[in-house]
Amino acid sequence: MTSKLNSTVVLVTGASSGIGRATALRLAEEGATVALVARRKDRVEELAEFVAAQGGRAMAVAADVTDADSAAAAVQEVVDSLGRLDIVVNAAGSMLNGDSERARLDEWDQMIDVNVKGVMYVVKAAVPHLLEAAKSADRQVADVINISSVAGRVATAGVAIYNASKFGVTAATEAWRQEFGGRNLRFSVIEPGAVDTELFSHQQGHAQEAESQRFEGVEKLHPEDIADAIAYIATSPRRRAVNEIVIRPTDQD
Ligand code: NDP
Repeated sequence: MTSKLNSTVVLVTGASSGIGRATALRLAEEGATVALVARRKDRVEELAEFVAAQGGRAMAVAADVTDADSAAAAVQEVVDSLGRLDIVVNAAGSMLNGDSERARLDEWDQMIDVNVKGVMYVVKAAVPHLLEAAKSADRQVADVINISSVAGRVATAGVAIYNASKFGVTAATEAWRQEFGGRNLRFSVIEPGAVDTELFSHQQGHAQEAESQRFEGVEKLHPEDIADAIAYIATSPRRRAVNEIVIRPTDQD
């Protein structure tokens, strides 16, 4: 394993699947100790064992980021166990699209709870530790990398509340960037187009059909494509803050 992030601790939410999982593996390859956060404990434990078997360092943390206490406890557990927190990647997310008349209100609540409040709770708990890490002599900077979406830049019929949640992530990240940059805490937002993950499979039948029509003929991105961008941000020297990256499949409008 290389060691660009040696001695850094990274907390990744949504590490049990897709982009979060690929990111944890990629940053572990860069030498980081990765804290793997998700609700499915078996999955993050399995991933932690896999990272260890590859010669990396990882810990699994079961948490629900929609619960402020659970999110704060996860952050605290990481700092207590690993002694510091340098980078947070907020990849936990939920997408339940479909026409608004048929959509269920609890699904809309779920998207706001995970995509907006989840980011909010993790950031709020992590910032004091990140500001502390930003003062450290070795790296001299700390990072929060939030996964928004192309849906956080462009609104589409049938995507209203996912759009609202991701526009929220994009906006909050920019505001935090301005607020904390002066103290060596960088905030970055990544806005992927369609990535081949489990995200699409949680939607109801009619929404799944609409989504597969929307992306028909599109060769989707791989989660590793997003992990590469996250690694570029996380390994950037202190002087270089990567504010925003949009990554679409070549075939996507
Ligand atoms: P996946 O469905 O593969 O992964 C979602 C992750 O979020 C899982 O690890 C899941 O873990 C976690 N999660 C969901 N709810 C909670 C919760 N309440 N508490 C803790 N963790 C939770 O999707 P992706 O990897 O594709 O999505 C990652 C991010 O990327 C999301 O924010 C998504 O909106 C965004 N994105 C994805 C795109 C795509 O095309 N796939 C495109 C643009 C953006 P568990 O269920 O174990 O808790």
